Amino acid sequence: MHCQFCQKGKKLVDFKETASLTRILSAGGKIKSRTKTGLCAQHQRNATKAVKRARYMGLLPYTKE
Ligand SMILES: [Zn+2]
Repeated sequence: MHCQFCQKGKKLVDFKETASLTRILSAGGKIKSRTKTGLCAQHQRNATKAVKRARYMGLLPYTKE
């Protein structure tokens, strides 16, 4: 089991957990592919949503130039 959210026993990824979310972002601020994040399909989908939400709320930066 490599999925960090499954390991923590979380069903949903909270967009307020920016520490967890930044870990699935590349240095450029893009969302990494599942092969790199090691997340399961469900959490990858969930995390992607959470990142977008966090960006909208201003908790995470948009892709850096
Ligand atoms: Zn998972």
